[in-house]
Amino acid sequence: MSDVREVVIVGSGPAGYTAAIYASRAQLKPIIYEGSVTAGGALMNTTEVENFPGFVDGVMGPDLMDNMRKQAKRFGAELITDDIVEMDLTGDIKTLTDGSGNVVKAKSVILATGSAYREIGLVNEKRLSGHGVSWCATCDGFFFRDQTIAVVGGGDSAVEEATFLTRFATKVVLIHRRDTLRASKIMIERATSNPKIEFLWNTEVIDVLGEAKVSGLKLRNTVDGTETERAFTGLFVAIGHIPRSELLVNQVTLNSEGYVEVDGRSTRTNIPGVFACGDLVDFTYRQAITAAGSGCQAALDAEKYLTHH
Ligand code: NAP
Repeated sequence: MSDVREVVIVGSGPAGYTAAIYASRAQLKPIIYEGSVTAGGALMNTTEVENFPGFVDGVMGPDLMDNMRKQAKRFGAELITDDIVEMDLTGDIKTLTDGSGNVVKAKSVILATGSAYREIGLVNEKRLSGHGVSWCATCDGFFFRDQTIAVVGGGDSAVEEATFLTRFATKVVLIHRRDTLRASKIMIERATSNPKIEFLWNTEVIDVLGEAKVSGLKLRNTVDGTETERAFTGLFVAIGHIPRSELLVNQVTLNSEGYVEVDGRSTRTNIPGVFACGDLVDFTYRQAITAAGSGCQAALDAEKYLTHH
């Protein structure tokens, strides 16, 4: 049993690192698999984070993650920059295999693999990411003061982001591929009564224009196929998220959207000894601070489980 770890954390970002800080301070000597490409999570792709409490003048997303990482390491967490590619979570001892073929056994596992923003899938969308194309209004809206920007999507995220962005922008054009939104009524009402929001129905974005930064969008009408170009200095893509739960299919209970289901307000999955936190579970708040909070809960839940087993 000596090579069986108390807890293995899969995934980094605010949830994974916070779980590692708490688990290591509880002397559980966690291993955290940070991911080979995705180490640090979504905040690695943002610039300044202004709303994480404790940083009066803001903090760069990657610096915040680096600080959390160092804090976990300081208390003895073992950090491995690799992915878990296979796992068997059944039974008292869980088995996980990393991308290099190493196998680790653990009494408990904390899943914190996060979610990915869904992309439209355009070449120029990727190229101009961070140069006018964004997936996060709360992170980047501030940079679009007094500009005309587009939001693509028809769900709660798109409507919420469009409404939020009117705080900064002169005009927000919500582009949706159909003529009805799937967002909740109250959110739609709020958006339709906002004079700064214009709706562009039955329209899809087929290209993002601009050399060094976004200058406009190429649009196609989904009903008659006509193509037009329109000037915008920003594009917010809000067409949903994809939880990074591919590996968890048939391992723990997922909801219809692929998010891990947990027991009430806890982080307990349906498998004893397996806990989930952060964006892998949360499709409502999706903030760094809420992810960090749930990472803390997961470590406390794991600690309690280990005490009783
Ligand atoms: P969503 O409900 O899945 O909506 C995604 C939207 O993007 C849909 O309107 C969809 O169009 C569109 N879309 C998908 N792929 C597209 C593509 N390739 N090109 C163009 N448009 C595309 O996602 P979400 O808005 O992120 O919401 C996810 C969940 O979180 C929902 O349950 C939502 O209620 C919840 N949420 C809640 C709040 C809140 O209550 N405050 C805020 C945000 C999110 P179609 O409609 O044509 O399929």
